[in-house]
Amino acid sequence: MDDGIYMDYSAGKPLEARCLEAMRPYFLKHFGNPSSLHLFGGEPRQALQRAREQVAQLIGARLPEEILFTSGATESSNLAIKGVALRARGKNHVITSEIEHVSVLNICKFLENQGFKITHLPVDRFGMVDLERLTAEVRDETILITLQYANNEIGTLQPIAEVGELARSRGIYFHVDAVAAVGQVPIDVEREKIDLLSFSANDLYGPKGVGALYVRKGTRVIPVMQGGGQEFGLRSGTEDIPGIVGLGVAAEMAREELEGEAQRLSRLRDKLIEGVTGRIRNSYLNGHPTRRLSNNAHFRFDYIEGESLILSLSMLGVAAATGSACTSKTLEPSRTLLRIGLTEEQAHGSLLFALGKSSTEAEVDYILDHLPKVVDRLRAMSPFTPKEYFSGR
Ligand code: PMP
Repeated sequence: MDDGIYMDYSAGKPLEARCLEAMRPYFLKHFGNPSSLHLFGGEPRQALQRAREQVAQLIGARLPEEILFTSGATESSNLAIKGVALRARGKNHVITSEIEHVSVLNICKFLENQGFKITHLPVDRFGMVDLERLTAEVRDETILITLQYANNEIGTLQPIAEVGELARSRGIYFHVDAVAAVGQVPIDVEREKIDLLSFSANDLYGPKGVGALYVRKGTRVIPVMQGGGQEFGLRSGTEDIPGIVGLGVAAEMAREELEGEAQRLSRLRDKLIEGVTGRIRNSYLNGHPTRRLSNNAHFRFDYIEGESLILSLSMLGVAAATGSACTSKTLEPSRTLLRIGLTEEQAHGSLLFALGKSSTEAEVDYILDHLPKVVDRLRAMSPFTPKEYFSGR
């Protein structure tokens, strides 16, 4: 707590020391190219295989060869979505949701410009897609459904296994953006009938700039980058062995720690949610009350702006977020919050606490002690606060 309270774990996570230690020899000693046939290619090649096994185990993949390494979720989703769509002959329809991460939405926009038809499923006030609506949108031309496992802003978990069942029964590929969920929720690509799954190593406290794509054996994908044919011909370019080693160890640690950490964090999350909504009038939880990530507490407060809350909290040593770090440079209100039915004012008055490994009960208590005073002070200064608010105290 001396270094401040970090509650922005959805924007970035520190690297686990165990990952760093495992990576170190692959920068200095085992620097060879895994494609080399001589001695120096051997250890990097083995490390690559080990990391595939570690990642496959985390997500329940049957074969290590179903794991490809990339530079992160953005690249994985490009390969998955474009790779499937551009390979499909005669089928030109893709289904996604209205609250996907901008990376997936922009890939879909690219495909739309290439002549594909894209259906954006609406979500309810909790951020969930409707299975009946999804079923109704499926056509003979549908090649792919791409859906996030969990929303990175409001934390809502989608009905992944049910969508997987539907996709499989209709012969449609199913891609999942698992960035927000991996390491937080037990993912099982077999049970959930997922064909392609994207995430980044940093989501698991691994290094930044490396990620993975799960591709079920037999899935028809074409590469989107041409080159030397590494990663089973699907992702050319010399492999980032240290990064991949770090991802493998991070996946192994996540598998060991997932259950205990999810329980610990959901208890802290619930304390924060009950404390904030109980102590601060006109404050509300955004997202689903129960089907949500164990580390996500997303609120909105009437009459004030999230940005001023962030700055006031920052002065008290607390780092929280207003929404997605990837779109924070725009002053636009969050699309996700508008799509779940919030007004622009409500969207601007929202705040996310994303908990993680360093989060403690003492930190939650500190926030619960200080946030009500901060909110009161900002409301007292805000021209939007009605007079009755103060007389009602
Ligand atoms: N999907 C979601 C839900 C995200 O939050 C992010 C950003 N962290 C991405 C995809 C893109 O991930 P990356 O920037 O690691 O490629």
